Formats: sequence, structure tokens, C-alpha cells
Amino acid sequence: MFKKILIANRGEIALRIIRACKELGIKTVAVYSEIDRDALHVHMADEAICIGPGNSSKSYLNMNNIISATWVTSADAIHPGYGFLSESPTFARACEEQEIKLIGPKEEHIRKMGNKSEARKTMIAAGVPVVPGSEGDTKDANEAFELADKIGYPVIIKAVSGGGGRGMRIVYDKEVFIKNFQMAKSEAAIAFNDDAMYIEKYIEEPRHIEFQILADEYGNTIHLGERDCSIQRRNQKMIEEAPCSIMDTSLREKMGEMALKAAKAVGYVSAGTIEFLLDKHNNFYFIEMNTRIQVEHPVTEWITNIDLIKEQIKIAAGEKINFNQQDIKINGHAIECRINAEDIHHNFRPSPGTIEEYFVPGGNGVRIDSHIYSGYKIPPTYDSMIAKLIVWGRDRNEAINRMKRVLDEIIITGIHTNIDFHREILDNEKFLKNKINTAFIATEMIKEN
Ligand code: ADP
Repeated sequence: MFKKILIANRGEIALRIIRACKELGIKTVAVYSEIDRDALHVHMADEAICIGPGNSSKSYLNMNNIISATWVTSADAIHPGYGFLSESPTFARACEEQEIKLIGPKEEHIRKMGNKSEARKTMIAAGVPVVPGSEGDTKDANEAFELADKIGYPVIIKAVSGGGGRGMRIVYDKEVFIKNFQMAKSEAAIAFNDDAMYIEKYIEEPRHIEFQILADEYGNTIHLGERDCSIQRRNQKMIEEAPCSIMDTSLREKMGEMALKAAKAVGYVSAGTIEFLLDKHNNFYFIEMNTRIQVEHPVTEWITNIDLIKEQIKIAAGEKINFNQQDIKINGHAIECRINAEDIHHNFRPSPGTIEEYFVPGGNGVRIDSHIYSGYKIPPTYDSMIAKLIVWGRDRNEAINRMKRVLDEIIITGIHTNIDFHREILDNEKFLKNKINTAFIATEMIKEN
């Protein structure tokens, strides 16, 4: 087992990883940017080392500085968390070259799955259903136009290197296709430094269903059931649940089998997620694989009683997964609400600033993963997520009532948050009846723009 792990991240996920390491008896090194000097992860780790200025490209994305910090502190592994360098094949290779173990997949897995168009090809070859769409990528508007015509409207234009819900455009009408394609392409060039695009059929009002995978070096690949991440704002997840309680056993088995097939097709090792869209007729389609731990991993941890970060660390250290598919039992229902520092009355714009008062809810079945405290100054530089409220209930109903209680108890003053927006969702009739899909917020909630 590793003796010391450097955590190349910040915020709640850095704390989450430090906690897992402590329980495994592994020493931890935090890295931080100059503006994160007072961040909790810096205080909670055994050692901390500054890796540059606030700007992520000079600190949390600075591979040289992170690798140097690993040498200086004699850490034997790096946990990248999510975001930042977690899905960078270049970073994975750099770690390999320096003989530092990266707690995550290999460079080739990230490369194969990180390019959405390549991932589609791999899935088609493996017999995993994908959304009908273009075979490869294209930068040519006329070629794309013809493809869209073949696929049939509505279509979704996606950036091959896109992520985080960005770089996508839905087109309902062929008249405006070329204009949208060009806009999406130039957005992609700026955001991802890659303007290769591909086209998919736009599935109307699907559920976003994803399967958690764990795979070790010895060919054991297991899934830990699904998460329903249909409550999204502009293709970004806001509420996640596990399991998806409208799904029957046979569909769960079918989708689980496909998720395993997808992971095995690339010889995947580590924790990962296979994402699908599920349409109204129970057809499901692979959309992408995330080759990292995800924000919403706690809902799966709660219903399976498996610590995903610990498993990920053990797998990276060369251990065998010591349970099998039959051992995975789903118990109860878990829900996560992502609390962001943003102003819901002003188009959800980020609301950085100093937290004056912070009261943390508690009680049975409640888990709060957060890096904030009273007096903490949220910098404008990073992601606006400040807390994850996670609850467990014996069934969906109990979990919802518990989450409502938690949303009532929590106090965060000094900044704006989306807490009231979550309250509204949890009071919505359709949400309560589990009649949700990825268009829920746009159709049910938004009076935003
Ligand atoms: P990202 O990598 O940016 O998160 P994804 O491919 O995972 O992008 O898609 C994010 C979300 O966008 C999905 O959960 C879904 O809501 C929507 N989406 C993506 N592809 C389609 C599609 N073909 N049809 C309908 N919605 C889609």
C-alpha cells in the first residue's frame, strides 16, 4: 500500500480523499494555490505545499509543479480527484514517466474515452448501443449538414473534446444548422482548443442514467448499479439519485451488462462511469465514459456501502477487488443536491465572497461533503460548488423528506446560493412522482432568462 499520497486538487474532493487516506493509514500531501492558503484541505493534510498563483493554469493545472511537489514530499502516488488534471492523458503519461502512481486509469484509457467521437467508435465495435449519429468527427459545416440531414432533426452538435455540459448545441431546424455548427465550432476552439465536432440525434426528454464501475488489474470488472442524474441545468447535473427507482430489475441488468461491456472493451482499470441516455421507450444509448471519480459518487457509496475512493486507492496499489458482482446489494435510496455559490435571481451567476454564518445540518442519514466554514472566503477563480448535501432513506420518499429537512436546516449567509432552487425542485409534483427527465429544469422550473 502507498505510504504517502499527494492530492492534486482542492475543495470538497480534496477533503474527501484526505479522509479516505487517513482511514487507510496513508499520509497526505495537499497542494494549494496562493489564494487557497486558508483552504481546509491545506489544514487537514499532513503536509501542504504551494504550487503557484490562483490562476489554475499556473497551479492546479501545472503538471511540472505538481510533479515537483510529489518529489519534494516523497509521495508515492497522486490522486487527481475530478476536474483539473483528472482526465489529462498527458498528465497520466508524465506520472508514468516519473514512476509516480496516478490513482486513476492509464493514459490510453483516458485517450480512448476522452475523445467522444473515438469513444463512440470503440463502443460501436464492442456492440454497445450509441445514440444514432456521425461515424467520425468533422470540421466541415457542409459535411456536417449532410450528416444531420441523414440522422434527422432534432440533432445535437457536440465538441469531440467537450465536457462539463459545454460545447453542445441542439438544432431543431435545418435552416439554422450551419449557423449553429459554426458557433459551436468556434466556441469549442476557444474552450477546448479543439474544433473537431460530431453530430448525434437529439433524444427528447430522456433520463440520464449512469453506471458506476470498479475494475482491477486482474480482470475483475464490477458495476455498482446506476445513478439517475436527470435533474440538470444546461446539461450540468444539479441533483443525483441512486438507484433510479422507476427502473425494473431486467432493465437494470441489461444496462449494467452493457456498462461492463463498455469498460471491458478498453481494458479499463480504476473507478469510472458509463453514461447512458434512457428514452421514454426504455431504449438506452451510451453517451460517454468518465475516467475519474465523479462528484456524485457518494449516492452510490451510500446504497452499496462501498467506499469508492478507498477502492480506487487499493486498485491503484495493485490490490484485487475483494467482492464480486453478486455481493453488490442495493440498500435504500440516496439523493445528492449540489449547493453552488450562485445567484438564482440573476441567471445563476457566480456569487463569490465571504461566508458569514454557516450552520451544518445533521441527524440520521445525512452526509455533508463541503470545504466551507464561517469566515471562509470563496474565491471567484474556481468552480462555484461549495457543498454536497447527501441523504439516505429507506425509499425515495423518505430520502426526499430528509433532504427537505436538510435544506431547511442549512444556513449559509454572506453569499447567494441555489438552496431555494433546490427547495422548489423538491416541492415539484412531477419530481415527487419521479416523472423527471433532462428537460425538467428547463420545462418545469425556469423563468430564468
Ligand atoms: P459532458 O461531457 O459535457 O458532460 P455529455 O455527453 O455527458 O456531455 O452530455 C451531458 C448532458 O447533455 C446529458 O446528460 C444530456 O442531458 C445532454 N445530452 C447529451 N447528448 C444528448 C443527446 N444525444 N440527446 C439528448 N440530450 C443529450
